[in-house]
Amino acid sequence: MPSITASRVLIVLFDGLRPDMATPERMPALAAFLNGARRFTESSSVFPSLTRVCATTIGTGQPPAVTGIVNNAFPDPAAREGRFLDTSSAGDMRRGTALHGPGFVATPRFADALAAAGRRFALVHSGSAGGAYLLDPRAKANGSFVLSLSGRDATETPEAWDKVVARLGPPPAAPPDRIPLVEYASRAMAEVVLPELQPDVALLWLTEPDWSFHYRGMDAPETREAMLAADRAFALVLEAASRLPVEERMAVIAMSDHGHVGTTGRFDLVTELALLDVEASLDRPGADVSVAAGTMCWLWPRAPDAARLSRLAAALQERPWCGALLAAGGDGVEGPFPGTFDLALVNADHARAAPLLLQMRGGPEDDPYGLPGRSPIVGKDFPPGGGMHGGLHRREMANLMALSAPGLPSGDDASPVGLVDVAPTLLSLLDVAPVAPLPGRPLWAPAREARVLTTGRGEYRQYLAVAGEGRGSIVRDGGRL
Ligand SMILES: [Zn+2]
Repeated sequence: MPSITASRVLIVLFDGLRPDMATPERMPALAAFLNGARRFTESSSVFPSLTRVCATTIGTGQPPAVTGIVNNAFPDPAAREGRFLDTSSAGDMRRGTALHGPGFVATPRFADALAAAGRRFALVHSGSAGGAYLLDPRAKANGSFVLSLSGRDATETPEAWDKVVARLGPPPAAPPDRIPLVEYASRAMAEVVLPELQPDVALLWLTEPDWSFHYRGMDAPETREAMLAADRAFALVLEAASRLPVEERMAVIAMSDHGHVGTTGRFDLVTELALLDVEASLDRPGADVSVAAGTMCWLWPRAPDAARLSRLAAALQERPWCGALLAAGGDGVEGPFPGTFDLALVNADHARAAPLLLQMRGGPEDDPYGLPGRSPIVGKDFPPGGGMHGGLHRREMANLMALSAPGLPSGDDASPVGLVDVAPTLLSLLDVAPVAPLPGRPLWAPAREARVLTTGRGEYRQYLAVAGEGRGSIVRDGGRL
C-alpha cells in the first residue's frame, strides 16, 4: 500500500459504542461514514477495557503495563482516606503526580510528539476530567487546547474553557442525562475549535452511548435517543471539518474505546468469598481483600501471601461462576498458580496491578434486551440489563475502529488492530516522529499473527485469544471454556 498521509486528523470517539450497534437505524450519519471508510472488524480495546485505561493507551500508544494506569480506580498511597485513587478525578491525578513525581504520567503522549514537531492538538471532552487529563497531562507545556466540560479548573488549559464559554455560554450544569453535554461538546468543536484553531489533531470525546448503556440499559428507548444525539454530534463536526480550506487532506477516525456486555444480574462476590474465609470490600480499601468490582474483579490482598492466593485461585476454579482467571508473576504466558494466565500476556503486569484477577463467567447468549452476549456483574449501581465493560468478553473488548484517509481503500479489514495503534496511526499520517518508540503500528501495516492459548487445572479450562507479540500485542478476548 502506498504511504498514507494527511494534513490534519479528526478523531471522533463514541465512548463505549459497540461496533455491532453502529447501525443505520441507530446512528445514520455514522453508518453513512462507515460505508466510505476502512472498517477494522477485528479491532480490540486494551485490557482492562475501562475508560481511563483506554484513554491513556490512546494518548500514549502503550498498554497499562507501561503507562501504570491499570484500572479506573486502584489502591494507592495518593488516594484520599478510605478510597481508591480515582482516575476520573483531575484532582486525584494531580495528587498522584504530586506524591509519585512526574513519572506517574511520564509515558510520552502523541500530544508531546505533536508539540515537539510544532503541531497542535485540540481536545474537547464530555466525559470525566481525569479522562481528559490522561490524554495530555502536559497540555499546558505542549500548547494544546484541552477543554473538559467538567469545569474551568478541570484541565491544565483553563483558557480553552474561557474561549468556548465566551462564544457559547457555559456548558449545561448537572443535566439529568448526558445528551446536553454531547450537544455542547460538538458545538464547541464545530463552531470554535475547528474553524478558529484549525488544529493538526482534533479529538472529540463523546461520553455517549457509554453513560446510557450503563444507566439506562443496552437498548432502552432513552439509550436510542442518546445514540442519535451522538450521531448528530458526529454529523455536525464532519460538516464543520468539510468547510476547512479545500487543499486540506483530512483523515477522519471514528472509533470507540471499548464495547459493552449486557449484564444479567448482580453477583454477590463478597458472600461467596466469605465462604472461602476471605473478607472482601468492594471498590474501597480496608478489608482483607480490596476488590475493584465489575464483570472483571481485581483482588488486592492487604498482605501479600502467595500460598494463600494460590489456594484461593484453586478454590475459585472449582466454582461454576468463575470465568477467566489471571495472576501476576508467571512466566509470561502461564500465571504463577496452575490454570491461570500471566498478567504479562495481556500487558497489564505493573506494580499497581492486583495479583489476582477474576472474571465473572458470561457467555454468548442474549442479554435482557436480546442483544448477543451477557455477563453477571459484581457491585455497581446499574439497573438490570445495564451494560458493563472492563473484562475479556468479546463484547467488552470489541471496539469501533474506522479510518477515512486520502489513498486508503474503503471496505472491511479483518486485521487484528487495537487502541495501541491509534497513536502510531495519527503520527504516521502527519509524518511526525514519536517521542519514544511505539509498540503499535499504523492501521494499514501488515497484519499481526493471531493465536489462541489455553490453560487449566482439573475440570477448569480457559482460553485467551491474542495477536502479535510483546507490548504491541492485541488481546481479542478470553474466558472459561
Ligand atoms: Zn469508555
